[in-house]
Amino acid sequence: MISVLKGMKDRHSDDVRKYDFIVDTAKKVFSKYGFERIITPILEETELFRRSVGDETDVVSKEMYEFKDKGNRSVSMRPEGTAGVVRAYLEAGLHKSDPIVKWFYNGPMYRYEAPQKGRYREFHQVGAEIFGIRSPYLDAEIIRMGCEFLEKLGITGLTVEINSLGNIESRKKYIEDLKAFMAERLDKLSEDSKKRYEKNPLRALDSKDKGDQEQFKDAPKLYDYLDEESKKYFEDTKKYLELLNIKYVENSKLVRGLDYYSDTVFEIKSDKLGAQATVLAGGRYDRLLEILDNVKIPAIGFAAGMERIAMLMDEKLVENKENGVYVVYFDDTKEYFIKTLEELRKNDIKASFDYNPKSFGAQMKKANKINAEYVLILGEDEQKENVVTLKKFSTGEQEKYSLDEVIEIVK
Ligand code: ATP
Ligand code: MG
Repeated sequence: MISVLKGMKDRHSDDVRKYDFIVDTAKKVFSKYGFERIITPILEETELFRRSVGDETDVVSKEMYEFKDKGNRSVSMRPEGTAGVVRAYLEAGLHKSDPIVKWFYNGPMYRYEAPQKGRYREFHQVGAEIFGIRSPYLDAEIIRMGCEFLEKLGITGLTVEINSLGNIESRKKYIEDLKAFMAERLDKLSEDSKKRYEKNPLRALDSKDKGDQEQFKDAPKLYDYLDEESKKYFEDTKKYLELLNIKYVENSKLVRGLDYYSDTVFEIKSDKLGAQATVLAGGRYDRLLEILDNVKIPAIGFAAGMERIAMLMDEKLVENKENGVYVVYFDDTKEYFIKTLEELRKNDIKASFDYNPKSFGAQMKKANKINAEYVLILGEDEQKENVVTLKKFSTGEQEKYSLDEVIEIVK
């Protein structure tokens, strides 16, 4: 037998009911805030991710499903959603015609990383991006929207963490000082952080290693390096969060380690997920479109991991309620049954039944098992009189009706 690939998973039953419920909730909540859904390909030119996610990140340098297609082009399965959405925005020329765009997406992402709880090689994200606006209120609003989305899924025990990365210039000085700080204790840092010291020191701050976290306790704080404009932007964003009643904690070690990120970064974390605590993460990326295509359009977005959401969401929201009717019939009344079934379906009534009907008792047992609200009995008498016996399961009441009457009652 051939098995599913490591770190990947088949989804059915509850998994799919949850998946659909999460997407439906995203649609409902995000459209209220003016978002429309965008669908982009899973496969993109590798170069897109190299340039937008960044060559030096773990995602691009180690985790990408990257291969040559039959035309010898280097292509990659998307490891995240933002790059494709940004490409689509630029390719549609929206920055020239209609720069303000609010888009959301959902779908599978691929990262070749070590599978563990809440971490897979194929996983799903729902994300949102806004182009063309730089405003602290918007930053607060998109965090608000992320919270509302998770709340509507019945998730509790969440914490919003925020930080400001300022702009590239102020970060340069910070990175110098951070490197000096790391150099003094390099031998005490994890192997990963040692590597990041050279390539991406900011990202070391975010290390999940307990020893690293201890070492970084007294690291210089990014806030002290922000220029006046960024400081004001951050203070204003926090003011609007308060106005929107969003509780947050400032985490000076929250970084997204890439050059194009600026100002606001945020994560929503759960206290129920252990090491893989982040459910939703995002930030402002005012420089990305400039880096990709020399287009000066600000943007902000977030992505949420659907598997982590599924682990946290209220199970009751997706209980499989087998409502509708169960139709009991016999070999002798099969044609009457088929006509009745057609009418039920025309009226959008869900009907369950046995394709090869057994005894009356066996069929009633089945109706009971699937928790049907009503049973329709189509025996020889009913067929002769052109009526249907309707039994309400909860009360046991049963009576003969015309099919039209039954449809009225059941609907
Ligand atoms: P982490 O620090 O957990 O590796 P990340 O910074 O790589 O996260 P992002 O790229 O910001 O994650 O992705 C946003 C969200 O997508 C994460 O917060 C998480 O919920 C989810 N996610 C990321 N990678 C995976 C994965 N391999 N499996 C399942 N969910 C994931
Ligand atoms: Mg990761």
